[in-house]
Formats: sequence, structure tokens, C-alpha cells
Amino acid sequence: MATEAKRVTDIGPPHFEKFLHPIIKENYGQWKFHDSLGPGLLSHTGPNGTIYSVRMSSPRLVSSNFLRMVCDLAEKYSDGYFRFTSRNNVEFLLANKDNIDPLVKEINEHGQLVGGTDNSISNIVHTQGWVHCHSSATDASGLVKVVMDELSDYFTEQKLPHKLRIAVACCLNMCGAVHASDIAILGLHRTPPRVDSETLPNLCEIPTTVASCPNNAIRPTSIEGKTTVKVDEEKCMYCGNCFTVCPAMPLADPLNDGVSIWVGGKISNARTEPMFTKLAIPYLPNNPPRWPEVTDAVKNIVELYAANARPFERVGEWIDRIGWEKFFDMSGIEFTKYHLDDFRHAGTTYRRSLHNRY
Ligand code: SF4
Ligand code: SF4
Repeated sequence: MATEAKRVTDIGPPHFEKFLHPIIKENYGQWKFHDSLGPGLLSHTGPNGTIYSVRMSSPRLVSSNFLRMVCDLAEKYSDGYFRFTSRNNVEFLLANKDNIDPLVKEINEHGQLVGGTDNSISNIVHTQGWVHCHSSATDASGLVKVVMDELSDYFTEQKLPHKLRIAVACCLNMCGAVHASDIAILGLHRTPPRVDSETLPNLCEIPTTVASCPNNAIRPTSIEGKTTVKVDEEKCMYCGNCFTVCPAMPLADPLNDGVSIWVGGKISNARTEPMFTKLAIPYLPNNPPRWPEVTDAVKNIVELYAANARPFERVGEWIDRIGWEKFFDMSGIEFTKYHLDDFRHAGTTYRRSLHNRY
């Protein structure tokens, strides 16, 4: 009887264990403590030794030259071991503590920065932006570059009351962690999708398109005998969900779209529950290549937080303690009608009470 060839079912990426540093492998699940050795420098110790991390910023969109430089440094100082963090930092994993100083020196000679640990700003986690994603309202990598250029001191030094996490998402689908970051930079569409009824019947499934709208704003309709859809503009919140399933409904408009700033999000810690970001600035213009309005706004909030928060307070904890009214007063940010959340699903979000003090 013929035997069947064995089916290949494991078709995913290679198992991460293959790439673990031997010290990490030997201490896996048994770590005892970790320590901070300075900006960008960490050690993790388990029963079978200590591993040292050196964190270098990366621009995320990197060239083969950059990757070669990282590989050369890793081979020279960390036995070839490094990893990319979810915030796009490069972390070299060293077995030998004596290699830390020469590695940092060489990273700096290459014009790269070391930092982003403890009371500092880590790299900005961000989404695709104009570079890649179809529904973006702004660029993501460009914004990150200009904001980090302004705030690089806060990456290389530990002079903040606590860690500060910034995120950029280029539309409100928010692939980045903007809802749980201390400061969030969020791309913003301001017009409803433009329905192309000529191509829509050939490109899109009507029921799927209708179902894609979280606000029930899309209805099937017929124009000159052709089945298409119409959008109730009063209900539309410009999220772009429909465009994701139906390319005949584009809504990107680089001149009219813009950027909003949100503050106060974080995941839980030993003292407080998770907090969602809340709206600080409803609209700033898309102004590439340096987005001066956005960099000024973010810098203003960071400097205010650095000067006024108590040690170990995150941005949201600081604002909760002083009150949102005071935050608006101190920052000079105008409180507008857009801060009143009248979105129909806003049961538990910002400012639903009639007792509004503005
Ligand atoms: S946040 Fe929106 S526009 Fe940006 S990558 Fe994600 S889905 Fe695309
Ligand atoms: S942009 Fe969002 S809210 Fe507006 S019609 Fe499309 S899915 Fe609905």
C-alpha cells in the first residue's frame, strides 16, 4: 500500500526560540530582577547569569546600510544578538558588561542615539502613514521624525517624572497604541467618503459595505439604474472603515485632513487602572515636511509635564490630580465645542455630564 507523504502544516515564521540569546534561553521564565544602568542600558538577571541590553533608536523605515551597520555592531559586541522592540528601537543583547561602553561610543559615532529607558521618552510607536496605508490622514514616519528631533534630549536623558510614551496613528482606526499612550498624535479625516457610483458596483459588495459602517451611515441606493450606496453625512464620523472594504469610497484629502492630539492614556500599573487618552487639541494642519504646529504642541505638553508632575506620575495621573480645567489653563490649549463628546456611543467617555464648567 502506498504511503501518503507527510503533510507540512507548520508554515508560519520560524520559532522564536531559535533566535534567543543563550543567556535568555537558560533563564527563560526564571528572571529574578532587572536593573537600570543608565539611559538606554538595562540588565536582567536570573539564576543562570545576567544579560545586558543597549537600546538604540531606529527610524523604523531603514535602509540596507542601516541594517548592515546594526549587524556589524552586533557581531562585534553582542555575539550577533539584537532585537527590534515594538517601538522600533534596536536592542543589542550583550553577555559581556565590558562591551557596553565601547558599543555606546560606536553607536554615537554613527550618529545614532542611545536611551529610551526609565524616566525618558522611548521611541514613538507608529503606524504606516502616507508611505503605505490607503486610509491614512497624514504621514506617520514623518511626524515621528520631526517630533523626536525636538524631543531627543528626553530620549537620551532621564529627566522626566516618569516614563513617557508617545504614539502616532494616521487614522482613527488606530493601529498604533494611541488610546493607551501618554501623548497620542492622531491623523484626522474631516470629510465623508466620496462615493464613486460608476465603479462601485464592480468593485464592492453592497451588503459588506453597508455593514462596514459602525454608525449605520451607509444605505444601498440606485442611481440611473445602477446599484450603489449613499452616505448620511450627519452620521459619518470619517473613520474610513467603509473605504477599507470598498475602494470606491475614498476619503483621504491631504489638505483638509489633519492631526489631533490626545493625552493621558496608559496601561495599568501598581497604583492606578488603565486610562484612555482624551482629546486635547482637535485639529492641527497637515504641514509637511516639518509639521511645526504639531511639534510645538507636543513639546509644550511634554515640558509642562516635566516641570509640574510629581515623581512617578504619568501624564494622565498628573492631569487627573490637577484637573482637566487646570491642564487647559496651564497649557494654553483652547477648550472648544469639539471637546464635548456628543458621539452617540460615548456612554462612558469624556464630558458626558451637563455640569460642564467651560
Ligand atoms: S492607523 Fe489607519 S491609516 Fe494608519 S496604518 Fe492604521 S489603518 Fe492605515
Ligand atoms: S467613514 Fe466611517 S462613519 Fe463614515 S460612512 Fe464610512 S464607515 Fe461610516
